[in-house]
This record gives sequence, structure tokens and C-alpha cells, in this order.
Amino acid sequence: MTEKKMQPLQAVKGMNDVLPPDSARWEWLEEKMRSVLQRYGYQNIRTPIVEPTALFVRGLGEVTDVVEKEMYAFEDRADKHGQAEHLALRPEMTAGVVRAMIEHNFLRDSGRRLYYYGPMFRREKPQKGRYRQFHQMGIEALGFHGPDVDAEVILLGRRLLGELGLKDGEHIRLELNCLGQPAERSAHREALIAHLEAHKELLDEDGQRRLYTNPLRVLDTKNPALQEMANAAPKLLDFLGEDSLAHFNGVRAILDAAGVSYTINPRLVRGLDYYNLTVFEWITDKLGSQGTVCGGGRYDGLIEQLGGKPTPAVGFGMGLERLLLLLDEVGVAPAAPVPQAYAIVPSATGLPQVMVALEALRAAGVAVVLHPGQSSMKSQFKKADASGAAWALIFGEDELARGEVAIKPLRDAAAAQYTRTLATAADWAGELLPNA
Ligand code: ATP
Ligand code: MG
Repeated sequence: MTEKKMQPLQAVKGMNDVLPPDSARWEWLEEKMRSVLQRYGYQNIRTPIVEPTALFVRGLGEVTDVVEKEMYAFEDRADKHGQAEHLALRPEMTAGVVRAMIEHNFLRDSGRRLYYYGPMFRREKPQKGRYRQFHQMGIEALGFHGPDVDAEVILLGRRLLGELGLKDGEHIRLELNCLGQPAERSAHREALIAHLEAHKELLDEDGQRRLYTNPLRVLDTKNPALQEMANAAPKLLDFLGEDSLAHFNGVRAILDAAGVSYTINPRLVRGLDYYNLTVFEWITDKLGSQGTVCGGGRYDGLIEQLGGKPTPAVGFGMGLERLLLLLDEVGVAPAAPVPQAYAIVPSATGLPQVMVALEALRAAGVAVVLHPGQSSMKSQFKKADASGAAWALIFGEDELARGEVAIKPLRDAAAAQYTRTLATAADWAGELLPNA
């Protein structure tokens, strides 16, 4: 029998590995995000990656790109009664958060400010800034109806982007719109359908089909041939009643007071059906047509639509791959994490003693990397230098025989090498820490 060498397998198209050193940027981003979220009182929620398909069909809307074309939906194996569940990889997380709120009766006493972070799945054509597994950080403020919370969500986004080094007006800009309430939308919808019918010959297959099912989406087009017709279409803003306008003006007043600049884009509708009143996007011009870094808005109808008590809610989702691409583009790079010390061990016989000493240093908070395996002193010193560590810890045979370690400063040529006693490592370990 001849043994065939197995062909190496590859990751699924559009799904990426994150490897060091790049993974350090992700960790840096996660830490920055948590710091900002905490200052606004947002708490973490984690929900399953797989949910019943029906949750997304009902939540996001049947006639949306995500549900129609992009969802990874499948039938699970049949149980012993021959019943198989219809499941889907989550394409977004708002529906899952709402499901969890209802399931755990979590909104019974008060509102909740929640954030999540994790992978989402959409079967789109992979390209720069568009993947089949991508990551979102998002926030959801549930149970609050006032325009203050819409504004808070936008301000939080600005702070987050700002603390990452992205400047409002330079790297990113805010687009804002108000979608009103269902009754206002249906009055507008009738006028819009009449307008679209009058220009039916311009619409492509998708557009023709959506003319009656989702006419607002027909306007949210990147097709240049449709721009003129879209610009001339009846504007939803002209159909808004007093309450919707008051809400919109309330949001704007806060944004104005906080110095947030924005443009009102009457054609901003967002890709999912559940939005009402405020919708917004943080956009960059530096990533081509994948320019939306963060999108969100109010979705007061969703919780009831998914079987809960009517509860107002507002939130956003931020695409982290796009955010990292943008940070690359504008030259924001976090400092790569480096160990404080690098342990050089000339002979394997001392290893037990060395490793016990390193444990004492780590217990005291020192990041110390052990040189792996045996190699010449010269090559170990080279590795120590390349590691970026401030100190080389040299565990030579003579030092170990005396219960000592030689400490050599690597970043300061004028500083001299010295020795310390291993038994008292807890006392002097602090010297190795930055700013000691
Ligand atoms: P787009 O118009 O770019 O397709 P969307 O309206 O489908 O975006 P949302 O569903 O609102 O996006 O998701 C929020 C954010 O998640 C987007 O603004 C974007 O930053 C990110 N995002 C969405 N889909 C992808 C994807 N396939 N790959 C990478 N990031 C994505
Ligand atoms: Mg999309």
C-alpha cells in the first residue's frame, strides 16, 4: 500500500486567521473598547453563535440582503423523533441580544446598557473590508425611549473612535437620518412607490422585485444610473409628524452641544428592517466602498416583533476588521508588547533552578521569556535583543552555583551588568519592571 501525502487544508474562503504580531492589535483594540464602554456603564453580554434561523428571518426582515442571500443557514441533524432544527450562524447580534432579553425576562425592572464583541457570519463576496467571518463590537441600550440615549450611543462611538486615534471630520464622519414611525413610513412608502413606478424601466431585477416589498432599499443603491431618480424621490423627512421631528431635533440638539459634526443623509436607511427614528453611520472615505465602519440606530419595534413586551431600544454595530484597516491606513499602530526580560541559559543542567527563579519573577509581575532549547550564548543574546526586552537574565553555571543571576541591561549601553540573589527574587523583581 502506498501512503499518499495529505494535501494541506486551507481556511474557509473569506474567513481569516489572526496571528501574532497582528493579534496584539486586536487585543489592544479590545482593551481600548472595554475602557470606553465601562465609562458609559455598558455591561458585557455573550450569546451563542448559532441561533434558530427564524430569529433572523423575523428579526432582520425577510427581504433583506442578509436574510435573502448572506445567511449561513442549515438544517441540524434529526433528533430521535425525526425532527431537525433550522439553525443559522449569526449574521449580526442585535436579534440574539433581544432574544436573550426576552428569554431571561431581563428588562422587567429597568433598562439595560449592553455591549458585545465577537464573530459574525455572512456569505458575501470576500474582498478588502468584507469577509464571511468578521467581527463586530456593538452596543444596545434597551428600555430607554429618549433622544438622550440615541445621542449617548453616538457620543460613545465618537469617543471610541477618537481614543483609537481617529479624528471626527478628518478620518471619519457621521451621517444621520430619521426614519420616523411605521405610520409615517407607510405614507411615505406610498408616495415612493408611485415615484418608483414612474421610473420602473430604470430598475434592475432586484429593484423591480423590491419596488413593492422594500422600496426604501431601492433608494439605498450604489448604482450610478439610479442616482438622479433616487435624488428626486419623495423624502421621508417631509412625512415626519411632530413627535418624530421632536425626537430628531432632541438628538441633534445634544450632538450640536457636544460639538459633533454630522450631515443629514435622507437616503440613509440601513440594511436591516428593524430600524425606526434615528439611524446613523460613521463613514470613512479611506476604504473605498467598504466605508461604513459603524452603523446603528433605534429599533423600538423589534422586541415586540420577537415576542417581548413593547420596549424601546437603540444601538450600533462596529466592524472591527474595517476599523483595523482604517487605523492602518491612517498610520495608527499600537506599540507591540515586549517582555521585560529574556532568560539566557548556557547549560541545560541548571534548568530546574532557572525555571523556579523565573516563576518567582513572574509571581512578582515580571514578563520574562525563557530562551527555548540549547544554543550558543551568541545566538541567545541575539534573540534577547530581538525580543525587545530591557534586560537579559544570564543564568551561567558560575552564577547558578552561587545561587545568583547576572542581569544585563540591553537598552542602555552605559549601564553596567550586575548580579542578584535568586532566593530573594521577590525583593528585587520590581527593578525589572518598566518605570522602576
Ligand atoms: P455594508 O453596507 O458595508 O454591507 P451593512 O449595512 O451590511 O454594511 P451592518 O449589518 O450594519 O452592515 O453591520 C455593521 C458593521 O459591520 C458595518 O458597518 C461594517 O463595518 C461591518 N460589516 C458588515 N458586514 C461585514 C462584512 N461582510 N465584513 C466585514 N465587516 C462587515
Ligand atoms: Mg451588508
